[in-house]
Amino acid sequence: MKDADPVARTVLLVEDSDAIRDAFTILLEDAGYGVLGAATGAEALRLAEERLPDLVLLDMGLPDTTGLEVVRQLKAAPRTASIAVVALTGRDEEADRRACLAAGCAAYVVKPVNTQKLVRDLPGWMATAAAG
Ligand code: CA
Repeated sequence: MKDADPVARTVLLVEDSDAIRDAFTILLEDAGYGVLGAATGAEALRLAEERLPDLVLLDMGLPDTTGLEVVRQLKAAPRTASIAVVALTGRDEEADRRACLAAGCAAYVVKPVNTQKLVRDLPGWMATAAAG
């Protein structure tokens, strides 16, 4: 039924932990979003290019590359440059936060994630990216 909704927004969830990816997929689907899952940076870049999601939730620690590198590549490609990217990280470091925001992330969310707040914040992040 959610697939039939023409205005359903799609989130690309990039996370190499299966358990976390599954938990976030359920959370996002319950909130009414379509969810694409990727476990590596390469898969994330391919899916972003093919499916043009409304937002990318991006784990910063990936097996094949860094989240920061994925953001830079998304923002450098004209097709994907306007997609909102939200960094998810286990490192609560000011230098990392600044680097993510400088690379074009809409937000920097430190784990453990407050999922209720995350779901509340998603529409605003998407709107900001669409306006920019
Ligand atoms: Ca990770």
